[in-house]
Amino acid sequence: MSPQRSAAGGTRLPFSLARRARFTLGAAAAVALLGSLAAAVPAGAASNRHPEGWTQVRPLSPSARDLLAEATARSPSVRSLVQQIEESDVIVFFTLRYARYQTEPRGQLRFMTRAGGYRMLLVDVESWYSDRLEQMAMLGHELQHAAEVASAPEVVDEAGLLALYRDIGREMQRGHFETALAASTEQMVMRELLTES
Ligand SMILES: [Zn+2]
Repeated sequence: MSPQRSAAGGTRLPFSLARRARFTLGAAAAVALLGSLAAAVPAGAASNRHPEGWTQVRPLSPSARDLLAEATARSPSVRSLVQQIEESDVIVFFTLRYARYQTEPRGQLRFMTRAGGYRMLLVDVESWYSDRLEQMAMLGHELQHAAEVASAPEVVDEAGLLALYRDIGREMQRGHFETALAASTEQMVMRELLTES
């Protein structure tokens, strides 16, 4: 079993919550990534708005918007998490990412910044090796982490995020954390997608 495989289900902190961590972007790179995406997709761009009028889970591309729309339409668990985030001071920017290697994380969450009374997170979901159902289940997994952050007002930076996951998570490998609830949410979403009528 390779070190990467043993990290499956783990989360790398301080900068990300990764299911399979191989490497992660540092904070500066993540901020730069958000900046460039924000420039490419103006905040509130009509094409990325959610049909339900939700505003705190913000897809950064049309394909991310489509995945979010499908996941909220098909999975009560994803819908409930989006609603939970909507009622919090957390904003989740959401993007899809093509992994170069199969061992890269299938989902990640980073703490971006605090501004205007909101705590901003960036979630990405891998979309090259993961099929659509897996992407929606992983979106549910990462939204569960976002809800965990939403419930922890003391998390206002990356150090706080690390402290939270040292507290509520299990360190799968040095710097890689996971919570049982995120893993079970992912499974629940997959069940909902497979058994919906
Ligand atoms: Zn996780």
